[in-house]
Amino acid sequence: MTTVAFIGLGHMGNPMAANLVKAGHTVLGFDLLPENLDTAKGNGVTIAANAEAAVADAEVVITMLPAGKHVLSVYESVVKTAKNGALFIDSSTIDVDSARKAHDIAQKNGLLSVDAPVSGGIGGAAAGTLTFMVGGSTEAFVKAEPVLKQMGARIVHCGEAGNGQAAKICNNMILGISMIGVSEAFALAEKLGLSHQALFDVASTSSGQCWSLTTYCPVPGPVPASPANNGYKPGFAAALMLKDLKLSQEAANSVGAATPLGAHAEEIYAQFGAAGNEGSDFSGIINYLRDAKRQG
Ligand code: NAD
Repeated sequence: MTTVAFIGLGHMGNPMAANLVKAGHTVLGFDLLPENLDTAKGNGVTIAANAEAAVADAEVVITMLPAGKHVLSVYESVVKTAKNGALFIDSSTIDVDSARKAHDIAQKNGLLSVDAPVSGGIGGAAAGTLTFMVGGSTEAFVKAEPVLKQMGARIVHCGEAGNGQAAKICNNMILGISMIGVSEAFALAEKLGLSHQALFDVASTSSGQCWSLTTYCPVPGPVPASPANNGYKPGFAAALMLKDLKLSQEAANSVGAATPLGAHAEEIYAQFGAAGNEGSDFSGIINYLRDAKRQG
């Protein structure tokens, strides 16, 4: 079994690290927050004094951190003490440029690396059913795949360095836009006197069908497990959706791609968050749209 260093033991990192412990690996963990270290310890993770100590004997180093700046600073501080031949896996959702810089830092120090952001949220992390979108060389992917399989159900090699992050932000841009589209349709239907169930029964088997409707329906009733049935408790928080939409727009700017609906979705989620809804599930956007005044 492998010795794994896990840096960033938050909402996602802790259950992911717990699954590696269950799979029989020795997991050395580090986080800045003492309460997250306590949870990790309870899950069988050995707590290291700092990131450098966690990494020193690890064959695999996994990071699950808030943003690109955190990943780059951890990479800079640990690559020198990392074991020869160690594999670096960054599963945080970060901007494509920082992901590519992290690969460069690893490569310059003779280390293999992949960017491997996830979808599936906290539930998927706990159940070990995450989807990993992986960017990096074939050699690094082949080495990473068996470890990722112990935390996820689907592992997709998306191409070279940074392409995992590219896949993640493109997917979540679709999700943000489609959730707004589905929510607008339900809000319009309400005003037209059409029931939620009737719209669902038609659209879920017609050309309006999509994941935001059939798996994550933003109104209570048609899909009993969706957050709409639970007071819009996340799920996937609106703040994280806004983060991913911002990343999509940064990426679109950097390559000159026209993404007008992605840009508009970012604005709408920014307004939703600023109105005090950052902690709501992102499908709660329907309540904001329902109350919004029609322009023009
Ligand atoms: P989180 O804030 O709960 O966890 C991040 C952890 O990183 C925190 O515990 C923080 O203390 C720690 N940290 C920050 N800087 C550090 C450093 N220098 N050294 C060690 N630890 C450090 O966030 P999360 O919800 O676990 O998300 C982690 C990543 O996964 C983010 O990039 C997020 O966008 C992505 N993600 C989250 C979800 C979700 O549903 N929560 C879903 C998919 C992807």
